[in-house]
Amino acid sequence: MECFDLAIVGGGAAGLFGAAVAAGRGLSVLLLERNGRCGKKIAITGKGRCNLTNTREWSEFSEHVHPKPNFFKSAFFGMSNKDTMAFFERMGLPLTVERGQRVFPASMRAQDVTDVLVARLKELGVPLCTGYRVVGASKVEDSVCGPVFKVEAKSSEDGGLRLFTARNLLIATGGLSYPATGSTGDGYLLAESFGHKIVPCFPSLTALVPLNYDISLSGISLKNVELSLYVNGTSVQTEFGEMDFTSDGIEGAAAIRLSRKAVAALDGKQKVAVSFDLKPAVSCEQLRLRIRREAAADIVIAKGGTSGLRALLRRLLPEALITPFMRANRDLSYENLPERLKAWRFALVSYVGYRRSVVTAGGVDLVGISPKTMGSKLVEGLYFAGEVLDLDGDTGGYNLQIAFSTAALAANNIGKR
Ligand SMILES: Cc1cc2nc3c(=O)[nH]c(=O)nc-3n(C[C@H](O)[C@H](O)[C@H](O)COP(=O)(O)OP(=O)(O)OC[C@H]3O[C@@H](n4cnc5c(N)ncnc54)[C@H](O)[C@@H]3O)c2cc1C
Repeated sequence: MECFDLAIVGGGAAGLFGAAVAAGRGLSVLLLERNGRCGKKIAITGKGRCNLTNTREWSEFSEHVHPKPNFFKSAFFGMSNKDTMAFFERMGLPLTVERGQRVFPASMRAQDVTDVLVARLKELGVPLCTGYRVVGASKVEDSVCGPVFKVEAKSSEDGGLRLFTARNLLIATGGLSYPATGSTGDGYLLAESFGHKIVPCFPSLTALVPLNYDISLSGISLKNVELSLYVNGTSVQTEFGEMDFTSDGIEGAAAIRLSRKAVAALDGKQKVAVSFDLKPAVSCEQLRLRIRREAAADIVIAKGGTSGLRALLRRLLPEALITPFMRANRDLSYENLPERLKAWRFALVSYVGYRRSVVTAGGVDLVGISPKTMGSKLVEGLYFAGEVLDLDGDTGGYNLQIAFSTAALAANNIGKR
């Protein structure tokens, strides 16, 4: 039986990238992916456009990495955001940088990211063993190869078991988010079987569900709003940007950035609320002056009452938002309107969870992993990369960079050894 230098479990962002780096260094690599094709999650990233990294310098980049950004420092400097961009451009994937320093393929097709990685692996002769779910792994002494990992995988086609042998093992199975893409937490079981601890997981970057959610809000998207998260009455985080009301609740970039803290607080049975500032560029006083101006210029607004309010709100809010806003603020008047526009409060009762969370927080405890190599401190030759680790990032390309950098660090270290 062939003994590979490296077996990789998982053909997502981390697995594919790690395989390309390791094989590029001349290692014999085997990649095992449970789905019929690699990179199923990459295809849905960045709304199908794949925000593959962010160009921010480390000092700013690190603010978007949780819970221990310094653990990620060596990996980042080993394969930085700039290196990642150079890598993909070398592979023939032109990139473009958008607002918020987010990097996308110029083609705006997430699938192109997977395609260039798979093409590179084919070029390097890496066998892509798709349709094989790894169900167990152990380290044993082989009479010919010495200490090796025996990796047991189940065929999704016929259920048959196959055994693979490798000197090193990289676990890159992702977390628990969007389980339909293949990440269902298998990596945690594999890690535990080698003695690693798992930091309790929770969904991050997920939709937040308000109390008595008015479903008629669904489908409304807002730009340039400021959202503040309140835990037990204290403001703990403020985000500015876009948000969407969906059938699930409050989503969109600015909203889901609040979700890491919101989910932890909801799980801790604390009182959680989100307050919307629909007019962050102006003060209450400026809004009051504007209302006076509108009333002076418009007879319907000057008359007041419900029709006056509605006519006024038409000048201030998107049409679709007016009825739900009025329904939620039943005592609305010209006097309290500025305050209501600047602090529309939603008490939160829950969150959507892994089904629709961009990333999993928690995972393989970093205490058992070397930040200089991504190698296990417990089992020589065992490595971890990507979302399976207790590392997660904000929206903006941080999570894929975590996957690429940690995988490259592991692959380069194995290559050196
Ligand atoms: C909707 C959505 C949009 C996102 N958009 C962005 C974005 O634009 N930018 C960004 O930076 N991040 C984004 N993310 C997050 C990012 O996609 C992930 O953090 C990243 O893909 C993690 O890479 P990974 O390789 O660790 O895990 P995954 O990409 O989840 O890959 C793990 C792979 O392992 C396989 N696997 C699991 N168990 C086994 C097993 N037992 N045997 C064999 N194979 C197995 C899975 O099938 C899967 O293919 C998004 C996530 C989602 C859900």
